[in-house]
Amino acid sequence: MSDSQENSAVVIAEAEPVTDSVASNVEPAIAATNLCKTYKSGTIFRKRFEALKNVSFEVKQGEVFGLLGPNGAGKTTFVKILLGIINKTAGAASLLGCNAGSIAARRQVGYLPEHLRISPHLTAWTALECFGNLSNVPNSTIRQKRDELLELVGLTGRHREPVKNFSKGMLQRLGLAQAMLHEPKLLMLDEPTDGLDPRARAEMRQIIHRLRESGVTIFLNSHLLQEVELICDSVAILNLGHLKYCGPVETIGQEVANENQQINAEVDLSAPLEEIEAALEGRTFKHLKPPTKTAASIDIGFAFQGEVDEFVDEMRKREISIQRLLPRRISLEDAFLKLIDDL
Ligand code: ADP
Repeated sequence: MSDSQENSAVVIAEAEPVTDSVASNVEPAIAATNLCKTYKSGTIFRKRFEALKNVSFEVKQGEVFGLLGPNGAGKTTFVKILLGIINKTAGAASLLGCNAGSIAARRQVGYLPEHLRISPHLTAWTALECFGNLSNVPNSTIRQKRDELLELVGLTGRHREPVKNFSKGMLQRLGLAQAMLHEPKLLMLDEPTDGLDPRARAEMRQIIHRLRESGVTIFLNSHLLQEVELICDSVAILNLGHLKYCGPVETIGQEVANENQQINAEVDLSAPLEEIEAALEGRTFKHLKPPTKTAASIDIGFAFQGEVDEFVDEMRKREISIQRLLPRRISLEDAFLKLIDDL
């Protein structure tokens, strides 16, 4: 993708109408403008490595936003700058209107790292106390909030059990509760469903949706694209430090689709193979499996619905039977791979 295309994707995303839960005049939850990070290593011959190159995008308040990218894309660098763990080299980054890394910004953020360590002898209550104390949350507030938070994450009644009895999903949910102790407006979650079984993932998704409904903005980092598709409203895709896409998950397929292939379909045709081949001549398609003497299963793109209708008419005219025609949306995973390959 060219630079101009990259920029247009971001501009389109910023111009999207705001959703119900987001007022138009509020500060973005996260804003990055031409953010750059160059790592320097070595003492005499200083090597420079540009991990973020002019990255600009916004996360609206009230949305669930996913930051995606292959290994080495710059995701951790981006998050570390937001949390004030490392300094940016150039550009600007802010959280809810406060400079990234400032105390005011940090107060508004709850963070769940990928591998949160909780001492096994602690109970859910004492773990919340420990984490709360580390974040300077007064004990009175912890006592007041702990049951409500455990209810939110589905751990009601488990407060006195040592966490060594907890499943990975329960530990992750307790981690979410600790990140919410100081009532942050923005939650940053690192691989929140990684390593969880399907049921635990579904529970985590439900909690994230509940938090979103209560107005919390959620910014997550994940390589599980099918999960991201289910959880997130919008995504940004980084590759080699460049922003490749920023916008709604729903429209990413259209963004990457070839203009001649806005509708994708899987079609099973049945007729003598030479007739099928003659009917498909001049069309762009790919076989989903090797054709037989009397059948073919193909993946085919159409620019608009009228073309699908024409295709069906043509097959009928040639007495080719359409056994199945299944329109298929371009998935986040398809779009991701296309954007990453499209260097
Ligand atoms: P991701 O989280 O997407 O895998 P990172 O932000 O960790 O990517 O890294 C982006 C790039 O920056 C990688 O090529 C990585 O090797 C490099 N990098 C990360 N941290 C440092 C560092 N402290 N010094 C030098 N290079 C680094």
